[in-house]
Amino acid sequence: MFSFSISKFLKPDRVVPHDEETYYMTEAEAKELSVGFNQQLKQCSVQIEEFNNRNQSLKEKLLQTSKRNKKMQENTAQKEEELKHMENDLINRKQYLEQLEARLNQSSQDITNENWKEDIEQAKISIENSSYDRLRTNIFSLLNHLKDLEAQKLSLQTENEIINKKITETKEKEYRPLECKNCKSIFIPIQNHDMACSYHPGKLKYYSCRGCGEDAYMNCCLKCKKCSEGCKISHHVA
Ligand SMILES: [Zn+2]
Ligand SMILES: [Zn+2]
Ligand SMILES: [Zn+2]
Repeated sequence: MFSFSISKFLKPDRVVPHDEETYYMTEAEAKELSVGFNQQLKQCSVQIEEFNNRNQSLKEKLLQTSKRNKKMQENTAQKEEELKHMENDLINRKQYLEQLEARLNQSSQDITNENWKEDIEQAKISIENSSYDRLRTNIFSLLNHLKDLEAQKLSLQTENEIINKKITETKEKEYRPLECKNCKSIFIPIQNHDMACSYHPGKLKYYSCRGCGEDAYMNCCLKCKKCSEGCKISHHVA
């Protein structure tokens, strides 16, 4: 590492006889040696500084990677939770629809009930009787009620079909792999999050990279893709 050799000794702390002086360094030589040591020391500290910086950036990279992983896991869990919620909602709606259908059946049974037939027969027998009008009103109101229930059932069925379709679409959309416009990698939307994508927003320029000296860099950070996979972190964009 040291580029010079020491061929003479430093003068001892005593009066040196004249004929011995050639064994020892002159003041100028001692000065030169000292300057040389200083330069070596400076180089060493520059190298140490570089190592420190590299170490620091590796540590940051590691921290980012683990943050990113954690975020991805959280995100996936949250989206799965949402899907589950939608599915539960659908189950509830289905149950409500079943109840409604049961009520509808009940109403149909009521109207065809023997009691009603008897009433109608009675009404027929006493056709001049004013209770026939009352009966007819009842029948009409029951029929209207049935119509309402049918309409309600139909609209609920339609709504359920729409929700079902939405769930299927959402699921398909969340799991269909897409290519990211920014980093060009393939990603699955359900796993996408704010730290999933690192990319260079700038353009490729043919100048030396500030990191490694490669003959092209991205003009956003003046580094090549080898030195930095991206100077900006975001979510993937398709
Ligand atoms: Zn960049
Ligand atoms: Zn580089
Ligand atoms: Zn991306």
